[in-house]
Amino acid sequence: HAKDIGKNNFQFFQRDMNDRALERLALENDLRRALLDNAFTLHYQPQFDCLEGRLVGAEALLRWQHPQRGAVSPAVFVPIAEEIGLIGALGDWVLDTACRQLADWHAAGQKLPRLAINLSGRQFIEGGLVEQVAAALQRHAINPQWIELELTESILLDDVVGTMRTLRRLNALGVSIAVDDFGTGYSSLSYLKDFPIDTLKIDRSFIAPIDQDGADARLVEAIIALGRSLRLRVIAEGVETQAQLQRLCELDCDEVQGFYLGHPLPAERFFAVALSGP
Ligand code: C2E
Ligand code: MG
Ligand code: MG
Ligand code: MG
Repeated sequence: HAKDIGKNNFQFFQRDMNDRALERLALENDLRRALLDNAFTLHYQPQFDCLEGRLVGAEALLRWQHPQRGAVSPAVFVPIAEEIGLIGALGDWVLDTACRQLADWHAAGQKLPRLAINLSGRQFIEGGLVEQVAAALQRHAINPQWIELELTESILLDDVVGTMRTLRRLNALGVSIAVDDFGTGYSSLSYLKDFPIDTLKIDRSFIAPIDQDGADARLVEAIIALGRSLRLRVIAEGVETQAQLQRLCELDCDEVQGFYLGHPLPAERFFAVALSGP
């Protein structure tokens, strides 16, 4: 009977919902534990300048090795950490760990010029961010000019007044600010002149097709020109091929980052690989 089938479907549906809710709950608990168990690490992806191919910096990327599931993507667990109120503590761990690593490298004579650290929107809203950054810099005797904080356009939209105040205070600390995934948000461009921003990071969705299609290359060219006229540094993320690299250099992009130039790596392996080039 149709009615029975409907009822069965409903039961399946409900079981599916329960499974998913349970799975989600388990993931939340594991995430809370992970901070106590030291299950997070940072990997580092190199960034190069186009002109001379020199190593100019790295981006710190969060990694979570789950005891049963294996590696879980930050694209999955960062939003959950935000929802369950864990991002403040996790973000602080990232700041501290990244600054400690940078200090260790400098002490060992490996003077990485810049380290980029990702921030989530929640860290802006929850407060205490500026204090966390200042404390991490001081704790590890980090020159603020070595640090770039990456944030997405959506942060700039959420709470304009609050974000402006926070960005000005971060700027006053001496760290620089990059707009990550530039071009994918829905924000107006006017924030670029109002906020204290140093760098545009062109989203990889624009980079992927630039060696095939004319319109995409012209879009990237326009973003680079925009950055140039506002005196912003422009970096392209997601560079995967020699052709993309060459095209970006022809378009006068300042810096490049991507699998073609180097994958994110644990700190111990970063310098050996990053300095050997593509
Ligand atoms: P994102 O900041 O835009 O980071 C770039 C992402 O692209 C990284 O993914 C990186 O591994 C990947 N990637 C780099 N080069 C290439 C390439 O050539 N091709 C392709 N297809 N991908 C490339 P990942 O590490 O999985 O991170 C994903 C996102 O998670 C990041 O995007 C960032 O939004 C967030 N995230 C990572 N670490 C942190 C963190 O410490 N704090 C916060 N709040 N978010 C983080
Ligand atoms: Mg980033
Ligand atoms: Mg990005
Ligand atoms: Mg991205």
